[in-house]
Amino acid sequence: MSLIYWDHAASTPPYEDVIRIVSEVMKEHYGNPSSMHGLGENAGKLIRRAREGCASSLGVKPAEIVFTSGATEGNNMAIKGAALQHMSRGKHIITTEIEHASVYESFVQLQQWGFEVTFLPVNSRGEVDPVAVSSEIRKDTTLVSIMHVNNETGTIQPIEAIGKLMKVKHPRTLFHVDGVQGFGKLSVDLRKWGVDLYTLSSHKFRGPKGVGVLYVREGVALTPLLTGGSQEQGLRAGTENIPQIVAMAKAMRMTGERQETFHVRVSLLRNRLLQTLREIPGIVLNSDEDSAPHIVNFSYPGMKSEVFVHALEEMGMLVSTKSACSSKLAEPSKVLLSMGRTFEEASSGIRISIGDCHTEDDIEQLEYAIRSVAERLQPFLQRGMKRS
Ligand code: PMP
Repeated sequence: MSLIYWDHAASTPPYEDVIRIVSEVMKEHYGNPSSMHGLGENAGKLIRRAREGCASSLGVKPAEIVFTSGATEGNNMAIKGAALQHMSRGKHIITTEIEHASVYESFVQLQQWGFEVTFLPVNSRGEVDPVAVSSEIRKDTTLVSIMHVNNETGTIQPIEAIGKLMKVKHPRTLFHVDGVQGFGKLSVDLRKWGVDLYTLSSHKFRGPKGVGVLYVREGVALTPLLTGGSQEQGLRAGTENIPQIVAMAKAMRMTGERQETFHVRVSLLRNRLLQTLREIPGIVLNSDEDSAPHIVNFSYPGMKSEVFVHALEEMGMLVSTKSACSSKLAEPSKVLLSMGRTFEEASSGIRISIGDCHTEDDIEQLEYAIRSVAERLQPFLQRGMKRS
């Protein structure tokens, strides 16, 4: 039986070029960029070039790119770094109820440290109201953090509208966007949107794991979380991960160049899948045609997500429940609950995430598998599932 991987929102297969570059740079350029000899200088040059490449993929300046170990670090660095740096101006910060754990828990930690946090609700599609964001902003609000695309449902937030309203209400309030699930799938214009801080993770766009980018707009000061070295403009001490950084820059360029084609191709596959899911009795959709093209989320109320996931795996289909970082927790999805879904619906969410390798034939196989599993599990549905 062949396996088909439908978990591209959790991680993507690296490009062949990425694998080659990681290995080449590890072999040839093992010098430390902070060393003064030639090997160190060459390593430094590679990082400079990678920084220019990432900046050009995002339409920003090289000095605005900070290399990190991924989006968990990028989100922590942006949120805690901004809140701590600007606490003399105020200690009120804003986010939403549906952020990735690396954002959400950074806010919870800041709350424990004495910050006042507003967690904004979302509507039944998982969207935040830009007017609600703006009306929560006060003179002492230093930071707003809102994700571009939700990792469980694919819901797209109105980032441009939020950015514009924020600049009118209080131009000094910083705007952080977790862009992990948006880059390569939707077009991104950080300057036009008024974004000050923007997080990316390389393994979500076919780069290596353990590396990412934090965009820090020129003039924005952050308190560094890692100290003890002057790397990354003093924002992140520690010897740079050169092979991963260089390979990420390549993946970023390749993904950026393919974004429009990806959107068209994957939207067609997604629309077809949504149509089929609408015809299967018992399935409740949590995504639609206006969501990001690569994520389809549905619930099968009365059946725990894990059971459905394992039944699909037996048929060769690798899907997931919620975010990879919280899927091992046997709790209902916080995102689906915030969208007003019932406890049963929120406990039975399944996420399919599509990649550029998938074909119509793959989707057909997936549809067949979902239909069969739903039929097979139908007699075992437990209405009124107990809260454990
Ligand atoms: N934010 C979002 C929206 C994500 O989907 C993820 C990955 N699940 C992260 C942050 C964390 O990324 P990383 O794996 O690079 O730490």
